[in-house]
Amino acid sequence: MVSAIFNGKALHDPQANRVYRWETNWGPLWDGQWWTLRETRACFRIICDQYRVPLPKVQMRPRRNGWYSYAHWLDDGPVDYVAFSRRGLNPVATLHEAAHVIAQYAAGRFEEPHGRLWMGVYLRLLVDNSVAPWCALRASLAGTGIAYRPLRFCGPRQIEKMACAYGRNVV
Ligand SMILES: [Zn+2]
Repeated sequence: MVSAIFNGKALHDPQANRVYRWETNWGPLWDGQWWTLRETRACFRIICDQYRVPLPKVQMRPRRNGWYSYAHWLDDGPVDYVAFSRRGLNPVATLHEAAHVIAQYAAGRFEEPHGRLWMGVYLRLLVDNSVAPWCALRASLAGTGIAYRPLRFCGPRQIEKMACAYGRNVV
């Protein structure tokens, strides 16, 4: 499991387990420390700037050897912090969490945490940042039942429009 959501309550998130299973099948690509916390923060700064979403606090989670990292938000507010375990300091887990920051800002309570918008943004980040080629991602998703918004609707411009429509004051 790369990520979990802590929101003080259980959220309706039917796609989460399918996504975690799919990520686990990638093997070592998503699991393990490749980066320092400082490098992870730099990546968040670049992505949040690109997507014009507020930069959350990026920190280590209290149990830094824990299994997963997570993004935190309250109600429909933006992600206020992301907490990493040591093994989450890598490009894939970082982009997984960055996709939460983007999707939560753009659609808040209208989207499930690991729903179609989040998955589309995550895939788009993986492709745009050369972490994985689209043909490989698409092939590995076949038959998983994981739904995602088409990637052409998940770029910075489309996200900014969604965020405006959702009533966010775009940064
Ligand atoms: Zn997640």
